[in-house]
Amino acid sequence: MKQKQQAAKPVILLNIDSLMPHSLETAAQTGRAPALKFLMENGAYFHNMVSSFPTMSVTIDSSLLTGTYADKHHIPGLNWFDNCRKEIFNYGTGFRETFRLGLRRSVHNMLYRLNNEHLSSDVTTLYEDLAAKGISSASINSFVYRGNTPQRLHVPRFLSTLTRFKNGKWTTDTTSIFSLGSFSRLRPRGFTLQIAAGNYKYTAKELRHLIRKNKLPGFTFCIFQDMDARLHLKGPGYIKGIVKIDREIQNILNMYPSWEEALKQNVWMVMGDNGHAATGDKYREFMIDLRKILKSYRIAKIQRPVRKKDQLVICVNQRMAYIYILDDSLPKSTLVQQLKNDNRIDIIAWKDNGNIRVESGMRGGSFHFSPNGEYKDVYDQTWNLEGNLNLLDLDITDDKRLYYRDYPDALARIRSALHSHAGRFVIVNAKPGYDFKAQSTPKHLSGAAHGSLHRQESLVPLIIAGTAEKPVGSRLIDMKEFILRLCMSEQE
Ligand SMILES: [Zn+2]
Repeated sequence: MKQKQQAAKPVILLNIDSLMPHSLETAAQTGRAPALKFLMENGAYFHNMVSSFPTMSVTIDSSLLTGTYADKHHIPGLNWFDNCRKEIFNYGTGFRETFRLGLRRSVHNMLYRLNNEHLSSDVTTLYEDLAAKGISSASINSFVYRGNTPQRLHVPRFLSTLTRFKNGKWTTDTTSIFSLGSFSRLRPRGFTLQIAAGNYKYTAKELRHLIRKNKLPGFTFCIFQDMDARLHLKGPGYIKGIVKIDREIQNILNMYPSWEEALKQNVWMVMGDNGHAATGDKYREFMIDLRKILKSYRIAKIQRPVRKKDQLVICVNQRMAYIYILDDSLPKSTLVQQLKNDNRIDIIAWKDNGNIRVESGMRGGSFHFSPNGEYKDVYDQTWNLEGNLNLLDLDITDDKRLYYRDYPDALARIRSALHSHAGRFVIVNAKPGYDFKAQSTPKHLSGAAHGSLHRQESLVPLIIAGTAEKPVGSRLIDMKEFILRLCMSEQE
């Protein structure tokens, strides 16, 4: 007799920020991360999921939750310039790493405007799609949270004078279960030292609370955001953070009669968001000072509104930067010539008459591309290509197939950044080891940094356990469809 059909298993996605394939494999293999090892051995492991570009958390989380790159979701990076309002947006320099008090604009931009104004209303989030099917979600520790449950959030009293929220309160649409540091917590007596995001222990406690109270919704997204800051300081080889977070995951799995039983009851997924590229230690050599390269122009200063006579605005996202040209009489080509003089800049890209043009400070020649052409890449996207393929380390075969090497899904990702917002701008990407600098940007010497298009930062791991299903593609933008499918599938 056919068994009664049951609702799908709850899906739990743990996003460990800056988790990288090699460190994860080392930690698991050497017995230092038994919980992750168990999930890897009893599930499927992918070591090369492609993140979005720039490889910055807000852009990546928006891609994961909307299933689109920045050309559709419109979150261009941590730091970008709105040409219509002539306003620089910074969601908090070092967003995950140093969310500082007193950054009144950052609080407002990050907690409210990102979700309510910037994240495009033409795309839906995974939470919104699930809610439309009657499936509820939980978001723990994520700054990108748009759902459709109006939630009144409270700014902690010590912060309220520094924010633009009336009486320190604001209403925003979130997931039905929503936890974000001091702003909203699930456990009545939960306490976090961090203002906005809780640390890894806090995230794990909030998740355990849901499990203990039998309140796991159809989908739960949890972010552990502790490793990023450590990796920036210590370099990509840092493994201790994985060991600590693994202990928390062990405690979570221990809530079930056995770890096998945990897999029977839920789908468990673990992923990273971006990798890190090791950086050199000599300031003059490894920091690319864009203001110095472009010193012949008048560059807007971040502490005051953009002025009419300013010619350029520079928004740095660690190892990539957007350079905006406000002066209409200044051609992009003139700026590109100056940038090309620096051999630490590996990619310079801009929109050029319906095409995208690429040049480099490292390699000669020029390259153009546009979508819908005769070459087909591994993601089934087709492209017109012309010029020096080495500029993006591309390979083509006689049957017009296109393969990526150092820059995964390079064409779609460069295109997405160039179409993520309005304005006349050029994108620059630093070669591994180097970091961009403009006014007041954090330095990452002798440690690691991210932001660029390179595979070191772009390829992240994914573990799926508790189901035999898999995403159809190997990009983070394929996760939304996959999770929807999992949450809606019925079991026998
Ligand atoms: Zn970071």
